[in-house]
Amino acid sequence: MSTYIVLLGPPGAGKGTQAKILADTTKLAHISSGDLFRENIQNQTELGKQAKSYMDKGELVPDDLTIAMIRERISCAECNKGGAILDGFPRTPAQADALEKMLGEYGGQVNAVPYVTAAESILIERTGGRWLCRETGHVYHEKFSPPKQTGVCDIDGSELYQRDDDKKETVTKRIRVYFEQTMPLVEYYRQRGRLIEINGVQPVEQVTSELLEALKK
Ligand code: ADP
Ligand code: AMP
Repeated sequence: MSTYIVLLGPPGAGKGTQAKILADTTKLAHISSGDLFRENIQNQTELGKQAKSYMDKGELVPDDLTIAMIRERISCAECNKGGAILDGFPRTPAQADALEKMLGEYGGQVNAVPYVTAAESILIERTGGRWLCRETGHVYHEKFSPPKQTGVCDIDGSELYQRDDDKKETVTKRIRVYFEQTMPLVEYYRQRGRLIEINGVQPVEQVTSELLEALKK
């Protein structure tokens, strides 16, 4: 039976950073809705064009577009052996319901939902200093986890860039959107007994070890 882990938390909490480490450790696929949208924007697809208008404003992309994109990615058995770590999806109750249904079709379910938290001032500091690599979205922070060479990814040598939606005004909007639209999922998964609260304001390695410890149970 496949294992599905949903990483929940506000923008900048460290979901992507932890998802990449967990995917390496557990050999599960890493499915990031934000990365998939950015890939579509880079490839100038129709979905990318539609998604960009929402992302630039710090709003959520409509549920139907997002669910269809994730459904396609999850149904790809080749890229989803044994399950996945979902990072940034679901973000609304409608997406969570759609996910339950989708996984049910494969006889799977959401097994655990680590909820990574941090105060707003920390989220703003983290997103403000975030740099990503063009090639595969490896994550750096200019102060907390700088690359060896400024502007270059340690892992694949590609160029590092800052996200347009990491500007302070847009981040503040994204945090508000998170509280309004995504916070209900905390109760959604708590009621289903899947929620695991993790303090995201600790060194990356410490967050990882708490996550791995909690997931063992
Ligand atoms: P999310 O996917 O939740 O938006 P990221 O994983 O992209 O968050 O992390 C946001 C920024 O914070 C990145 O620049 C990352 O390098 C940095 N970061 C992530 N985890 C930590 C941590 N535990 N301590 C300090 N900085 C962190
Ligand atoms: P992220 O990379 O997770 O910070 O996401 C970046 C942006 O992509 C968000 O601000 C949204 O505009 C969009 N996005 C990512 N995931 C979702 C989702 N599950 N539902 C709707 N919009 C999303």
